[in-house]
This record gives sequence, structure tokens and C-alpha cells, in this order.
Amino acid sequence: MAICPICNGFEEMKANCSSCGKELTDSGRIMDYYDDYSAYMPIDQMKMEDGFPNDFKEKECPHLVKCSVCGNEVVRLIKE
Ligand SMILES: [Zn+2]
Ligand SMILES: [Zn+2]
Repeated sequence: MAICPICNGFEEMKANCSSCGKELTDSGRIMDYYDDYSAYMPIDQMKMEDGFPNDFKEKECPHLVKCSVCGNEVVRLIKE
């Protein structure tokens, strides 16, 4: 897998909450929460509106980001 700048601390997650507009906080890679791809499915379906695609194998690192203000959770694909 290529190097993800967020995982490696080169960059900070920069994203804003789609609900309240506040800054989102990186909660780490999705892989750290789930053991295998089948476990992604519920999230994949939930987050469909965020453009969360099926092609994880591409050089993108899916991160879970959370809004500390309203609790909104979003998956962001980080280009590696
Ligand atoms: Zn990453
Ligand atoms: Zn929010």
C-alpha cells in the first residue's frame, strides 16, 4: 500500500462537517475498526451519499472523521 500522508503525520485532516460546517477530526483508518472488507458493508451503505466508493483497493486510504460539535461521522478517502 502506498503512503497515506494522514496516517504518516505528513498532513492534517482538513475537512468540514457537512451538517454544521465545523472542522472534522480524524479518527483514524477504517481498517483499524474493522477486520475485513465484509464488515465495511454497513458503513458503505450508510455513507453512500458521501460518495464512498467500493474500490478501496485503489490508492486511497479511507479515514473515519468525526465532528466534535454535532457528532456527524464521515468517511474520507485520502489520496495516497
Ligand atoms: Zn490513512
Ligand atoms: Zn458537525
